[in-house]
Amino acid sequence: MLIIGSWRQLFFIVVVVVGLLQPAAAYIGHSCHGSFNYSNDSRYKANLDTLLSSVASDINYYGFYNSSYGENNDTVNAIAFCRGDVGIDTCRVCVNQSSAIIIEKCPNKKEAIVWYDNCTLRYSYRSIFHKMETSPPFAMSNEHNASNVDQIESLTTLLNRLKDKAASGDSNIKFATGNEQALAFRMFFALVQCTPDLSKHQCIDCLDGAATWIPRSSNGQLNWGARVNLPSCNLRFEYYIFYGDNIMDAPPPPPPPPQPPSPPPPPPETKKNGALVAISTSVSSFVVLALLGSSIYYYWRRKRKEEEDRENRQDVQLINLANDRILNHPYEIENLGGENGVNSQELPLIQLDIIQAATQHFSEENKLGEGGFGPVYKGTLEDGKEIAVKRLSRTSGQGLQEFKNEVILIAKLQHRNLVRLLGCCLDRNEFLLIYEYMPNKSLDLFLFDSTKGAHLDWKTRLRIIHGIARGILYLHEDSRLRIIHRDLKTSNILLDHEMNPKVSDFGMARIFGGNQIEANTNRVVGTYGYMAPEYAMRGLFSIKSDVYSFGVLLLEIVSGKKNNNLYHFEHGQSLLTFAWKLWCENEGLEMMDPLLGQSFVAEEVLKCIHIGLLCVQDDPAHRPTMSYVVLMLGSDSITLPPPAQPVFSFETVQSSQDNKTSSNNVVTISNVSPR
Ligand code: AMP
Repeated sequence: MLIIGSWRQLFFIVVVVVGLLQPAAAYIGHSCHGSFNYSNDSRYKANLDTLLSSVASDINYYGFYNSSYGENNDTVNAIAFCRGDVGIDTCRVCVNQSSAIIIEKCPNKKEAIVWYDNCTLRYSYRSIFHKMETSPPFAMSNEHNASNVDQIESLTTLLNRLKDKAASGDSNIKFATGNEQALAFRMFFALVQCTPDLSKHQCIDCLDGAATWIPRSSNGQLNWGARVNLPSCNLRFEYYIFYGDNIMDAPPPPPPPPQPPSPPPPPPETKKNGALVAISTSVSSFVVLALLGSSIYYYWRRKRKEEEDRENRQDVQLINLANDRILNHPYEIENLGGENGVNSQELPLIQLDIIQAATQHFSEENKLGEGGFGPVYKGTLEDGKEIAVKRLSRTSGQGLQEFKNEVILIAKLQHRNLVRLLGCCLDRNEFLLIYEYMPNKSLDLFLFDSTKGAHLDWKTRLRIIHGIARGILYLHEDSRLRIIHRDLKTSNILLDHEMNPKVSDFGMARIFGGNQIEANTNRVVGTYGYMAPEYAMRGLFSIKSDVYSFGVLLLEIVSGKKNNNLYHFEHGQSLLTFAWKLWCENEGLEMMDPLLGQSFVAEEVLKCIHIGLLCVQDDPAHRPTMSYVVLMLGSDSITLPPPAQPVFSFETVQSSQDNKTSSNNVVTISNVSPR
C-alpha cells in the first residue's frame, strides 16, 4: 500500500525521480570570499543548512530562487539562478549539486559562491537581493583549439545586442542568446544572463563589467571562446552553438496541482466512520494519481520538446550524421582508430540564410551543374568570396549516404589537389555542403569539348596528370586515413583558375585501416568505363582499383576521348584496347588528341601512355602503386616495365553477369555476393 505522509514529500519524490534521469551538472568554479567564518555548532550554520536544503524544491519555474532564513546576525541570504535555456528539472539537479559542493568547497565561510555550467548559487550574511555585485569575478578562455582572433568588433556588437535584450527581461528571467558573423565561415555564438532581481540598468552595468573581464592575449586579441562569471551576471561566447532555446519560449508551466482535501478529524471506531475513511482514502488516491500522471505527462512533453530542439540544432545533427554512418559501416570502426567522427569544430556550420543569400535562393542562374548527390550552385558571400554549394534534398536516400561520407571524409583531408570542403549546413530539410569555388568547373567540360579542349595544351595536361596523381597518392598513402575514392573520373576532377586539378566527390569513398589492403562490396557503384575488372566483376576494391581508374583518366587526357564512348571506336573497341593496339604497333602518338597541335613533347606523351597502360592491367598486382606512378611521372631515368594487354572491357562484365541493372553512369550489379 502506498502511504504518502505529506504533499511536500510527494513533490520531493517526483523531483528526485526526475532528477535521477538528468545528467550530472558541470562544475566551473567557486569563490569563498569574505573574512567571516561560522562555527559548526552555530545558529548561522543551522540556518544555512536549512536554506540550502530548500533551494532545489523552492526554485521557481524560471530557475530563480532568492530567500533568507534566520534572524539578526544569524540571517542567511541565498540566491540561485539557472541558465535561461535549461529546463526546470536540469536546473534542480544543478542547484542540488551546487548546494552540496558549496559547503564542501567553502567550509565555515559566511559568504560563498559556486558556478556551474547550468546554474549559479551564492549565499551571504549580508543582504544580497536587488544588489548588483561584480566581485569576485571568475573568467576563463577556451584554450582548447583556440587561436587568437582579431574579431573584437563583431563580438562587441553581439554582446551589446544581447546585453540590451537580457536587461529588458522581466523579474523572472534576464537572459539572451544570439550569434554574429565573425569571419566568412566563423560565427560567434554568445549567451548573457543577469539575476532577474536586478533592474535594467543594473543588468547592463553588470554585463558591461563582465565584458571587461574577457581574457585577452598579451597583444590584446581574443580567443574563440571564453566565459566570465560574476555574482550577479555572466556571459559566455564560443564559435559553435552551445546553448538551447530560452525557456521563456517553451510552453508555460502547468497549473498548480489541486490541493488535497484536509484530512478529517480522527473518527471514533464505528462502521459509518469506516465508510468515510474509505471514501476519503479513495479521493486522496485519485488526487495522488492525477498529480503523478500530470507531472509525468508534463515532464514527458518538456523532454520531447527539448529533444526535438536538440535534434534540430546543426551541431547535434552533424554528430548524429557521423554516428549513424558509423553504425551503417561497422567494418570501419576498428579501422578508424579514433578518426570516426567529425564535429562542428572541424567542419564549420554555416547558417542557411547566409547560403540562401549567397546563391540567390538557389537560383537557376547560379546553378553550376548536377551530380549524383544533387545540384551544385555558385554562391558569393557578403565579403565577395566565391563558393560552390552542393544541395541535397532529404528525400534522396542514396544522396544522404553520400553526404555523410563526404562530411566525414573530406572534412579531415587537406591537400592542394583535393577540393576543399569549407563547411556544411544542416537545417531541417536542407543538407548543404560548401566548397571552395572552382572557376573552371570540371575537366570533362574541357577535355571532351572540341572548342574548349584547345585550352588544354600539353603542358597543362601534364600538370593536370601530375596533380591528380599527387591527390590520389595523398588519399592512398599520405593522409591520416587510407582512402579509396572509388569514383575517379574526369567530371570529378575540378580545375581552379590556373587549371590546377583538384579531386572531388567523396560520396563513394571508403576508409581503410592500417593493414587493410582490400575490401569487397555486394553493391558495386562507380562509373561505366572507369571500373577495374575485379571491382566490376567481384565487388573487390582496393587502392589498385583507384589506380585502374587513374590509368583510364590518364589515357583520356592524352587522347581527348572517353573510354565509355563505344560509338567512337570500331567494333565496340574501348579506348584501352585502342591504346594497346597502337602501342603494340609502335604508333602510340596516333592516339594523341589532335587539339594538342604542336604543343606536345613526344617522349612525355609516350611515357604517359605507357604509365596509363600499366595502370589498366587486368591483374591488380601488376598495376603500380600511386607512389610509383608519381615517381615514374617525375623521372626520366626509370625504365618502365612492359605493360600487359588489358583484356577486360565493360562488355566482359555485361556478358558475365546475367542479373544486372545499369543506368547512364552508375552501374549496380546486384548479384555479386561478398567473399
Ligand atoms: P558533383 O556533384 O561533384 O558531380 O558536381 C556536379 C558538377 O558541378 C561538376 O561536374 C562541376 O561542373 C560542378 N561543381 C562541383 N563542385 C564544384 C566546385 N567546387 N566549383 C565549381 N563547380 C563545381
